Amino acid sequence: MNIVKKNALIIESNPIAIKFLSHALKSLGFEVAIKSALSQNKEDWLPTLPPTVLVMDTEALGIDTKTYIEFLDTDNANHKTPIVVISKESTDRDIKRAFDAAEIRYVQRPMELPAFQRTVNDLLGWNRNQRVAKRSPALIVEDVNTTAMIVQKLLDVLGVESIICHTVAEFDAQMDVIYPEIISLDLYLPDGNGLEICKKVRSLKEIDELPIVIVSGNTEMDTVVECLRAGANDHISKPIIKEEFFARVSNVLKIRALQKSLQDQQKMMETLAFTDPLTNLFNRTYMDMALRRETERTRRSNSPLGLLLIDLDSFKKVNDTHGHETGDEVLREFGFLLRKKIRSYDVPCRFGGEEFCVLLPGSTAANVVTVAERIRKACEESTFSAKQLKQTISIGTSVFPELSVEQNLITDADKALYSAKQGGRNRTIVSLPK
Ligand code: GH3
Ligand code: MG
Ligand code: MG
Ligand code: MG
Repeated sequence: MNIVKKNALIIESNPIAIKFLSHALKSLGFEVAIKSALSQNKEDWLPTLPPTVLVMDTEALGIDTKTYIEFLDTDNANHKTPIVVISKESTDRDIKRAFDAAEIRYVQRPMELPAFQRTVNDLLGWNRNQRVAKRSPALIVEDVNTTAMIVQKLLDVLGVESIICHTVAEFDAQMDVIYPEIISLDLYLPDGNGLEICKKVRSLKEIDELPIVIVSGNTEMDTVVECLRAGANDHISKPIIKEEFFARVSNVLKIRALQKSLQDQQKMMETLAFTDPLTNLFNRTYMDMALRRETERTRRSNSPLGLLLIDLDSFKKVNDTHGHETGDEVLREFGFLLRKKIRSYDVPCRFGGEEFCVLLPGSTAANVVTVAERIRKACEESTFSAKQLKQTISIGTSVFPELSVEQNLITDADKALYSAKQGGRNRTIVSLPK
């Protein structure tokens, strides 16, 4: 068996996050190197060894993320290094603009261990579940160390790793980084109260489903009810009775796992419903939804929205000469090329047959032509299928609000596409002003 050496470089300043990321990557078989910040000196910016994967926190960089990614991309050895960007913002468009420079994934804090590991696997094209840890660590919030150790031991028996926080402040610091599997919460803490923690977690939309078990010596009915009202999933009394702890925590974990698997299934169904099976691009149904959403956003934010309609030239001939299967192969490979030539927040879709459509949020008429020509030229220069076929495309573009009214984005692009075909194919035509 070949042992491939994989190395990960982490750029991260938060010690808790460093621990989390090191653990996550090491258990995927990476050798890990850590940089806690980038200096102002550009020579220091290049990794000594080009990493298999670069994991960086936007806050640790100290310079503009886009600038850094573009800088890496100009270096031969680090060109197109796979990157995982960790950020508090999931929708940082500026960062996403750097997509052209490299293969990038985004992870939002707080992070869940299995999800982070899946992102890395996915980015590197590995088997989706390759050695992904089953659970995220639990957080134990308990100021009395002996009690905390007992809870840790009991969780350990249930196969749940855990991290102990002695104060609310420590808990907050962990929650900035980690999305735990479950929280075991003491009520009386030196710098606050477990109930407040409970209410806070329940009020944050991204983490409101996190299982919480209160472990407390206060067993008065009023308090127990108050805990449950504050959103705790269960209450365990101190001194802890082992069997009760196992039973209650197992139940909470079981219910959460069930809920998660339902959510995953729903996500999968959604993905299937919106994906074109041949190219893995979005399908027409999704496109219609995205178009409505993006025009709405455009109207609110006053930023433009571009649209490309792409048709493969004389595609019927490919099928007629080489067979339908080769035709399918060309379509699939074209879909792959298309995705590589656009930014991560552009929306590529198979419109139907040999027609494709791309939404380009934030693109002016000039940007749209640049993107269209980049795709057209890349296609012209590529060969497709095992038979190394040449294939050209014609593109019609439209832009709201510069050139089209929103209801006509598709029809205007379609007219422009028709002109491109009339004009001799293998070209981009911009729709005329409304
Ligand atoms: P033009 O340059 O004018 O677009 O010529 P064309 O031959 O591409 O246009 P036409 O509309 O005459 O033919 C489109 C062809 O695309 C016909 C159909 O066989 C083929 N096609 C549509 N969907 C699929 C598909 O899913 N797989 C394959 N292999 N072929 C498809
Ligand atoms: Mg206490
Ligand atoms: Mg067509
Ligand atoms: Mg065609």
